[in-house]
Amino acid sequence: MINIIPTGEEFAHAQPIAEMLAHNPTFRSWFIAKTRFVADADCQSMHEQIERERHHPPFWWRHNHHVSCGCEGCVGGRETDIFNIFFRNPKDKFALHIEVKHLGDTLKENQAKRYKQRASCWAANKPNRIPQHHRAGTVLLYSAAKHTKLEPLFTHFHNRLTFEEIWAVFPRILDATQAIRKLQSGGR
Ligand SMILES: [Zn+2]
Repeated sequence: MINIIPTGEEFAHAQPIAEMLAHNPTFRSWFIAKTRFVADADCQSMHEQIERERHHPPFWWRHNHHVSCGCEGCVGGRETDIFNIFFRNPKDKFALHIEVKHLGDTLKENQAKRYKQRASCWAANKPNRIPQHHRAGTVLLYSAAKHTKLEPLFTHFHNRLTFEEIWAVFPRILDATQAIRKLQSGGR
């Protein structure tokens, strides 16, 4: 159970997607089929191991960072909005680094261009408390209304997907986002 709901639209957008990727095999396969790992869409989630290795943070999927690495992707302890590792073959684990951009958020080139660098860095040289993985991909998850604004930055991500595409197929994810907003505003 969640006792304290973090504030903010980023959390309201990200939490249902992170949880469904972990717990709902239909959504997981659908989502991963939209990425470079389409051939492995029918896969397992390693969220339990991530949660254990990270010593059970309130939300295992967020606030991952690698402070001990000075590479361009990691320097300054940069964070990935949603992080998880999956596998179809246990000898070929793949990570997704997902950047979440809701309507009211902005993405700077300086932030976007570090995503692929960080994903490659972690696959080659994993941070403490992150399970070993062999490959990595980056996904920009964004509001359709921001398409024109974000278009110049698409090249910095392997794949992209809008919230609207997700909600059209999985309306319960939008319901969950709305339920979180209600909790965030104290049930009003
Ligand atoms: Zn690094």
